[in-house]
Amino acid sequence: MPIGKLADLNARSKRTTLTFLWEGQKVNHLEQRRGLIIENKYYDAETIYDMQGAFFTMSDDRLRHLIAQVFTKIPAGVVDQVIDDCLYLIQDPEEGGTYFPNTILKNKHICMFAYPLFDEPKKGKVFTILHETAHYYLKHKSPFEFDNLTDPNSCGKQYNKQEKEADVLVDKWIKDWENSQAKLRPKKKGG
Ligand SMILES: [Zn+2]
Repeated sequence: MPIGKLADLNARSKRTTLTFLWEGQKVNHLEQRRGLIIENKYYDAETIYDMQGAFFTMSDDRLRHLIAQVFTKIPAGVVDQVIDDCLYLIQDPEEGGTYFPNTILKNKHICMFAYPLFDEPKKGKVFTILHETAHYYLKHKSPFEFDNLTDPNSCGKQYNKQEKEADVLVDKWIKDWENSQAKLRPKKKGG
């Protein structure tokens, strides 16, 4: 990470009162925020943005904003788990590469995105982020952990099964969210 970006992060941290002391502080913050869960069990984007802290996206504020929007469509309990267990990363187009020492990874699952994510239409962004989230939530294996690694046929089947399962869960999340929104909408009077 270039020094300029660190300075930028510090400035941002002061503005939003976020810090890198995420391990100790986030729990309290989360507990405090849990009081805000309303009947339909979804967080609002502002709450999710705060819950993430800067570390969840390794200080990529654009990704953090996008995730905050997308996570409004999945149940609050899932959001709690994902933010505790994962890091969501995206390549920095200004960098040739990035090094992450294992000391900061803290046994997190990583959902990794390619930069063109930001150019996708809104539906595509939502689907891409939720699809990787579904892989995490369903405790899917990395292809490197598949059974019968030397058998491409078997690996293909295992891969396709997981892809299908992830897509089915994303569809369910979206449908449940749409239903919850329909319930929230006030009923039209008279026609
Ligand atoms: Zn997939």
